[in-house]
Amino acid sequence: MRKGSGILAELKDVKGIGPKSLSLLNKININSIEDLVTHYPFRYDVLKRDELSSIDDGEKIIIDGKIESIPILMRFKAGLNKMNFRLVTQSGVVGVSIFNRAFLKNKLLVGTDVIVIGKLDKGKNVITASDIKMDTLSNKVKIEPVYHCTSGLTNKNMSTYINMALLMYGKEIMDYIPKEFQEKYNFVNKKTALNIIHNPSTAEKLKEVTVRLKYEELFEFMFKINYLKQQNKKEKNGLVRVIDRDKLNKFIEKIPFTLTNDQNIAIEEILSDLESPTRMNRLLQGDVGSGKTIVSFIGMYANFLCGYQSALMAPTEILATQHYNNLVHFLKGTKVKVALLTGSTPKKEKNDIYKGLSDGTINMVIGTHALIQDEVEYNNLGLVITDEQHRFGVHQRANLQNKGVKPDVLYMSATPIPRTYALTIFGDMDVSTIKEKPLGRQKIDTVVKKTSEIKEVLEMMYEELKNKHQVYVIAPLIEESENSDLTTVNELKDQMKLAFKDKYKIDIVHGKMASGAKDMIMEQFKKNEVQILISTTVVEVGVDVPNATTMVIFDADRFGLSTLHQLRGRVGRGTSKSRCILISDSDTERLKIMEREDDGFIISEEDFKLRGHGDLFGTKQSGDMAFKIASIKNDYKILLQAKKDSKEYLENKDNDNDLLKKTLIESITTVN
Ligand code: ADP
Ligand code: MG
Repeated sequence: MRKGSGILAELKDVKGIGPKSLSLLNKININSIEDLVTHYPFRYDVLKRDELSSIDDGEKIIIDGKIESIPILMRFKAGLNKMNFRLVTQSGVVGVSIFNRAFLKNKLLVGTDVIVIGKLDKGKNVITASDIKMDTLSNKVKIEPVYHCTSGLTNKNMSTYINMALLMYGKEIMDYIPKEFQEKYNFVNKKTALNIIHNPSTAEKLKEVTVRLKYEELFEFMFKINYLKQQNKKEKNGLVRVIDRDKLNKFIEKIPFTLTNDQNIAIEEILSDLESPTRMNRLLQGDVGSGKTIVSFIGMYANFLCGYQSALMAPTEILATQHYNNLVHFLKGTKVKVALLTGSTPKKEKNDIYKGLSDGTINMVIGTHALIQDEVEYNNLGLVITDEQHRFGVHQRANLQNKGVKPDVLYMSATPIPRTYALTIFGDMDVSTIKEKPLGRQKIDTVVKKTSEIKEVLEMMYEELKNKHQVYVIAPLIEESENSDLTTVNELKDQMKLAFKDKYKIDIVHGKMASGAKDMIMEQFKKNEVQILISTTVVEVGVDVPNATTMVIFDADRFGLSTLHQLRGRVGRGTSKSRCILISDSDTERLKIMEREDDGFIISEEDFKLRGHGDLFGTKQSGDMAFKIASIKNDYKILLQAKKDSKEYLENKDNDNDLLKKTLIESITTVN
């Protein structure tokens, strides 16, 4: 469990949660009591009392009242039953029929208050109910929370568990808003706020506590950002280097292409950071394919020339492996020793790498999260680079920084964040931006197609394959799940096999595969031993196979524009014309933006307008960036306030012994 949540009890301690419901909750990422009570409704259904006389024949009605007659149960053939009773409401008596709820018979006693939702037959004065709730509409309106659930776990279950958890542990739940601000804004306490958000009585109250909970979430987030910023500022004593420019230039001259102007500027900015006594804390932003990697490699080489170690952290093993192979290639003929360290590096090799890193015989290391495990010790880490930065949360940011003595830090991100937001979220960093694409790059032709046009799509694929090019095919799911009609990679493989017979080799990669197998298939794709690569979004970030010229994305409406842009960025990396085909039967207006725009910055603005921050920070691995209730875009005003307040709180020395302040700081500096 995350530190500082304040609750020692576990989910299984909540009355009513047994092993089965526990595993269902875990399945949707609810692993602690705090997770459970902050599993906020994604929408609310409003039940408003109707009058019998104001509803037309056959129309939907919501009405409450007392049961007046003992329900009569009729059983028909197997599995079919019907119950009838009379209901006294404020606007008259009405008959109610409901099918297949025989199990409710014992609860529907005479005198019971119920809400009936159904269709009114005016002639017969009977409501055919679709739902009956043991409740009343005492305030004329009832607001019902609707939760994200999973099969086997109903909305009702979810609500019951949450309320039980609140009842049992509500007082112990950590409140991240300091007293002074609670008072200043007249906020209700955390427990009350949670009670209301899960059981709102009026829309006004709901709105009020929503603001309070958003503020809290943003306060916590901004406190951490401000803290990191403060720490960075304090450290004026960064490494001072004298870079041997002649040697560095020799390395740059061997690169088989000419760097773009923007790349050169970014390199200069990085080199001057490395030379200056202030610690580098820089974000390198650039559209997909703009060539950020080589810029970082040059930084690493400069760092090596000054006698320091470098570490490059990537979000996936595929990407780490690719960077490793590239780096080894660029470093041919130099004395640099490079290692690759990921979760699947064999034990013995891992130990050798640990040793090499701590005694300094390894100069550069590339890897995944494995780089920030406790066992890893560096001899003289001078430069830390994280690729696709938005995938790492604040915690990881801090952790990597803590590793070295006072290493310089460079973050790379291909998901451009509109400037105003970037300044706030990455307010603690300097920013270099690569806008220019390398020479010879062509615009990727993008088209939106319907599922019914699949034949055309296959023909387009065939054209490219005949020209000895390769194709990516993306699907949102790996396996079929009960309540989804989304395309899966396995289905697609069968479809493609059918269409292309044995002419081309087809294979699959997805996130749940063992990484060895994944790497092997990626290698084969790179070598053109596989021509059609079917994949989930694991290829989203960074993968570079220039001979792949076609990207086909199924169920494209499932993805945010920034993700689509990232995926599309996998093609168009060589000099051949490339195309991207988005298949979807819905949401085509939004998808058409992809046909028009090829500038990641503009697309990210559009995405921001349409979806808030959601897609920008990814969802799976985003850690702190995945807000539960706040949205950076929609709640920007609250964010600014939270930023100001949290800074004030951080800088106020009188608070230094507050449990809350300590907890917040501790939660930044410990691995979770
Ligand atoms: P990204 O910015 O998306 O991480 P990469 O660094 O993966 O992009 O670069 C994409 C491709 O472009 C790579 O194959 C890289 O070697 C190549 N590349 C980078 N810079 C240039 C350049 N100035 N001219 C031509 N090709 C380049
Ligand atoms: Mg990249």
